[in-house]
Amino acid sequence: MTLTASRYQMFIGGEWRDAAAGETTEVINPATEQKITDVPKGTTADVDAAVAAARDAFETWSLTTPAERSGMLYKFADAVESHADELARVESANVGKPMSVAAFDVEFSVDNLRFFAGAARVVEGKAAGEYVATHTSMIRREPVGVIGQVAPWNYPLMMAIWKLGPALAAGNTVVLKPSSWTPLTAIKLAELAADIKPTGFFNQKTRAIRGACQRMVEVYGGQVPDTMDDLLTLPGVARKTANIVLGNAFGKVEGIAVDTHVRRLAQRLGFTTEKDPDKIERDLQRLVPKDKWFPFTYVLIEHGRRICIARNPKCEICPVNYLCPSSRV
Ligand code: SF4
Repeated sequence: MTLTASRYQMFIGGEWRDAAAGETTEVINPATEQKITDVPKGTTADVDAAVAAARDAFETWSLTTPAERSGMLYKFADAVESHADELARVESANVGKPMSVAAFDVEFSVDNLRFFAGAARVVEGKAAGEYVATHTSMIRREPVGVIGQVAPWNYPLMMAIWKLGPALAAGNTVVLKPSSWTPLTAIKLAELAADIKPTGFFNQKTRAIRGACQRMVEVYGGQVPDTMDDLLTLPGVARKTANIVLGNAFGKVEGIAVDTHVRRLAQRLGFTTEKDPDKIERDLQRLVPKDKWFPFTYVLIEHGRRICIARNPKCEICPVNYLCPSSRV
């Protein structure tokens, strides 16, 4: 057993954490009946946090190309394969199965991950056709959102891979809940996935973060600038981030942060027809009193996360559906 104690935690939104309520539960080796470790005992608060994080991740993951998702899943498979011995030992101890069986489970899981990596680029759909005169019909495959997954105790690694692989390949994000009896290889999977170096869009973000940090050290004496003009000189920082930083860190309100939720809500609610974030912000500033600009951002973000979800807005329970020009009810 080589998992470190710091890794016997939940992995939510890129962070390792204990359960919100601070409770833990024992993990037992059923072959020896000896305790292996304690793991967090999650509650609805943890599920809510995980779903919120997965919804945020969906905003970018669902926009990745099949090639990017495929590349990431191949890297994930490589990472699992390079930790095969460790995973097999953990699985054997946690489930109480022979090492030879656990080793096969890892090998099979690697093969399955590579299958889903390939499948990401060959998603099936019926060919477009004219099934009705003057109309062209086609099936377009789209990710559906956050997938809640529950893995059983008996094949914890394989079952986790069978659930994660196709959901991620199709552009969905996932909240995986392993069995509380056998969660250890799922925790290890999270650790391996977290170490995978993302491609494309994510690499650009990394470069921007490094550049911003460098400029803060070299130009601003290691401090975060506290004006809009200075913040906008940092690589990767546009008005959205600058507004968030100014409002939260310095109590200054110079605008309305237009993130992906605010943009979508502003368009659906008919507040703007613009697509450019700066123009959307100007339209919103004209509509909303200045003393409400800061909370307004967060009201739209929360509404976008919980009700006016990107692909499946819950118009039937939306409190402003009678005002909304995009309402489906
Ligand atoms: S009515 Fe529907 S589209 Fe309009 S804001 Fe509410 S959830 Fe979104």
